[in-house]
Amino acid sequence: MCSQICASMGDVDDLLAKLKITSCPHCKRTGFLNKHGSLPGYVLNQTGKPVRGARAVRVYCSNRRVALCGQANGCGKTFSVWTADKIKHLFLSANSLWLFLNDSVNSGNKIQAFRNLNCGLGYSSTYHIWRRFRSAQVAVRTALVALCQPPQLESDNPAKLTLDHLAKAFQDHPLSPIAAFAVSLQTFFL
Ligand SMILES: [Zn+2]
Repeated sequence: MCSQICASMGDVDDLLAKLKITSCPHCKRTGFLNKHGSLPGYVLNQTGKPVRGARAVRVYCSNRRVALCGQANGCGKTFSVWTADKIKHLFLSANSLWLFLNDSVNSGNKIQAFRNLNCGLGYSSTYHIWRRFRSAQVAVRTALVALCQPPQLESDNPAKLTLDHLAKAFQDHPLSPIAAFAVSLQTFFL
């Protein structure tokens, strides 16, 4: 399913309010989009603990009129609308992920960095997240090179190089670098 990533919940609401004048990302036709439930999963509550909730909003491009009266209409496909603080298949917020990755690189202690988040989840997640980051790095750095040159660093640690490049690329952005990456490039960081 394709995804659209908004900077804030306010931007998601704006997009939903304008669905009828927004073109479908699949078929490019306008006038057939409807809100169509949400993607369930884990979200963080106000104390930072994961609870069941809506991860993203699903939007449907209605093709019902074909069945009813044979008129041209939407394509019947869906897409999801996310806020940039969420990452697909990951309970951590974009900012928590940013803190965890930086803390891991700077301290060399992933478990402690994960513990510092105080997110109430098992430490086995630590290595799973780190593996996802490691396998995403080539794509992330390729995307970042299109935005700016990497900073001049005396480091042979690819993770540090990636994070510093990310920080440089979005140093003036109001969102945390991982969320800024998602909104600017309309793709998930991991
Ligand atoms: Zn469509």
